[in-house]
Amino acid sequence: MRKILVLLIAAALSLCTGCANFNIYSEAQENALGLEAYGEATKEYPVITSGPDYDMVQRVGRRIADASGKAYEWEFKLLRADDMVNAFCLPGGKVAVYTGILRYTQNENGLAAVMGHEVAHATMRHGGKRMTNAMILQATAAAVGVGISMSEMSEEAQAGLMAAFGIGAQVGVSLPFSRGHETEADLEGIRYAVRAGYDPYEAVRLWERMAEGGNGGPEWLSTHPDSIGRAKKLEQEIPRILQEEGKSAPAPQQPTAPMKQIRR
Ligand SMILES: [Zn+2]
Repeated sequence: MRKILVLLIAAALSLCTGCANFNIYSEAQENALGLEAYGEATKEYPVITSGPDYDMVQRVGRRIADASGKAYEWEFKLLRADDMVNAFCLPGGKVAVYTGILRYTQNENGLAAVMGHEVAHATMRHGGKRMTNAMILQATAAAVGVGISMSEMSEEAQAGLMAAFGIGAQVGVSLPFSRGHETEADLEGIRYAVRAGYDPYEAVRLWERMAEGGNGGPEWLSTHPDSIGRAKKLEQEIPRILQEEGKSAPAPQQPTAPMKQIRR
């Protein structure tokens, strides 16, 4: 059933590339679904509630959230899953970071790049746009319209919603955002990182580390292809974003750690 669902969604998306910015859902509807999906997506792994990594996730998350200017009810969860190289932000500002991605982010600037990117998917409402594109099965749209909660929807509709929000891996449905949405999230995410005072060039190094350590690997890469292409595009765009945000280029960084330290 899941395979059929993926094919349906993929077909609907490919037919509708021109309407990627059309969204039939209200922000309140998206946020309510985001909150429900958050409970669903974070229950599988232990939630870390103290320690330096937890503190870092709260600190970076708060700064990125403030930089986004969105008055969401923000929440930042660190989930213990060393083999999950992933992170997400659901509509309404519900963020999760898996411990596995910290090997790649390596420092606060790297984490800011990941969180900036994920937060930008939410603030730019890419999930709602994808639900509109695919219509995530008409039953879902109808259910949302009359205020039926996610837990009352069919299993297929729930899986479709989670796929649209970019957390389909939780239910075995992986659906990358479109290239257009990815580019938007890359650039807007960097803008948040710059505004929050982080070194945006660490995003370039992060994508390079992902590409090197990838090898058929991290979950993040399966929904975020072409790391090297992204790194190059970001490097070109960063000076413009720095200028637009009234910031100067950061001092050069130490070279990043050799990949040996990252490989599992
Ligand atoms: Zn993305």
